[in-house]
Amino acid sequence: MADNADIRADDFKAEPYWWDRTPRPNLGEPELPSEVDVAIIGSGYTGLCAAIQVARGGRSTVVLDAEEAGWGCSSRNGGQISTSIKPDYEALARKHGAETAFNIVKEGHRSLAFMKDFVAE
Ligand SMILES: Cc1cc2nc3c(=O)[nH]c(=O)nc-3n(C[C@H](O)[C@H](O)[C@H](O)COP(=O)(O)OP(=O)(O)OC[C@H]3O[C@@H](n4cnc5c(N)ncnc54)[C@H](O)[C@@H]3O)c2cc1C
Repeated sequence: MADNADIRADDFKAEPYWWDRTPRPNLGEPELPSEVDVAIIGSGYTGLCAAIQVARGGRSTVVLDAEEAGWGCSSRNGGQISTSIKPDYEALARKHGAETAFNIVKEGHRSLAFMKDFVAE
């Protein structure tokens, strides 16, 4: 079996290149609160979005991560936002029926609207 390392470019590295110019913050070892209303595990989009909602709702929160902040997919992705759902409407309709397929596709459109509002806020 071929060693994958053989096909890599000389300057290959396992971390995203854009981390060079936008390094993630080094937060050190923060002092944790003894009590919070909501403890959130994971500092990606999901965790941070949840934390914002909790804080805006007036509750205390802390975001915990096993790695450095932003370590996961959220700081490594392609940044594409679309309404496209896979499988497409026809395939979804065959599997779940027209009404459910329509609602799934509509959810994609709603999520795009949510994203625009969320970024604007
Ligand atoms: C290469 C790549 C390209 C992508 N491109 C796109 C794209 O263009 N468009 C798009 O919409 N999506 C894309 N995605 C998917 C998107 O990035 C993810 O769906 C999204 O970032 C997931 O966010 P998350 O917060 O759920 O997870 P993550 O950002 O992965 O965050 C999870 C965090 O939880 C922490 N964690 C996990 N388990 C524990 C534990 N037990 N204790 C403490 N901490 C823990 C991890 O360390 C991590 O920091 C891409 C993903 C990858 C990898």
